[in-house]
Amino acid sequence: MLIVMKADATESQVADVVRVINELGFRAHTMPGAMRTAIGITGNQGSLDTARFELLPGVAEAIRVTKPFKLVSIDLRPEKTVVRVGDAEIGGDELAIIAGPCAIENREQAFAVAEAVRRSGARFFRGGAYKPRTSPYAFQGLGEEGLKIMAEVRERFGLKIVTEAMDERGLELVERYADVIQIGARNMQNFSLLKRAGRSHLPVLLKRGLAAMLDEWLLAAEYVMAEGNYNVVLCERGVRTFAQHTRNTLDLAAVPAVRRLSHLPVVIDPSHGTGMNYMVTPLARAGVAVGADGLIIEVHDHPERALSDGPQALTLEQYEQLVGEVKAIHEVITPAPVG
Ligand code: PEP
Ligand code: MN
Repeated sequence: MLIVMKADATESQVADVVRVINELGFRAHTMPGAMRTAIGITGNQGSLDTARFELLPGVAEAIRVTKPFKLVSIDLRPEKTVVRVGDAEIGGDELAIIAGPCAIENREQAFAVAEAVRRSGARFFRGGAYKPRTSPYAFQGLGEEGLKIMAEVRERFGLKIVTEAMDERGLELVERYADVIQIGARNMQNFSLLKRAGRSHLPVLLKRGLAAMLDEWLLAAEYVMAEGNYNVVLCERGVRTFAQHTRNTLDLAAVPAVRRLSHLPVVIDPSHGTGMNYMVTPLARAGVAVGADGLIIEVHDHPERALSDGPQALTLEQYEQLVGEVKAIHEVITPAPVG
């Protein structure tokens, strides 16, 4: 159920509706919007009687939600969510650029890349401290040491840190050192991790699973939001198909598809979405052209020496070139109207 308040509803009327919902044993999710406040109700198994809410002062209408997701839905918030990360944001007017190495390997590497990222005007630095590798013998990341290096990067360059948490214990550490929690593709349906991220004070970058349908991805975001964390950014990073010319097939159609259903911002990851250095820039351009709110790009000062994902890493020069190009594209496209 979704309660839409009248445009002139007062704060105390909103609070009264929330109280009624809580008294019934359900959870109220208040979403203030530009035109009106909406309140999502979760925790009910069956459907609720709309009449119960429609007579409350300040309520415009009570709507039964027929889609499987509620809080991620555009019905709850018709305008796009802007996820704020300190003084930076994702989903606002500016194209968000998140760039950095696949994995933090050492302080020198991280600083060399961060310097280029800062110089490009990007606000976010990515880097893995906990790496979900296919082989148990591959480099697994520096762990907490990697997080400490990223905290230094934040201090030195003023960049916001985006890094993956692979499990609940790791998430606690990520909270201590970083600004955005990345949930990786392989963990998109790790429901206990999603719930824990939903109780975090940090925004969540939720990657699409390797074989996830749109509904499954949005429901994963719903898990996070249902726990009270409404700062979720979706990330399309390619899915498995029969194509052999790329590591994954980057599904650019996911951007308008999400846009039609959800208010959440979407970013594109052309690095994992192609797996090939020479394809990253063309697909980044396309991602921006299709309306993505941002890009997440792997960059390395020496891709040939990278301990993970070297073949898809951009050099510092290639990265700089990419940023110039995507900013130019972003300037000429107007955001598609919602719906
Ligand atoms: C990554 O961002 O380095 C990563 C492991 O991504 P994904 O979960 O999309 O594979
Ligand atoms: Mn990677």
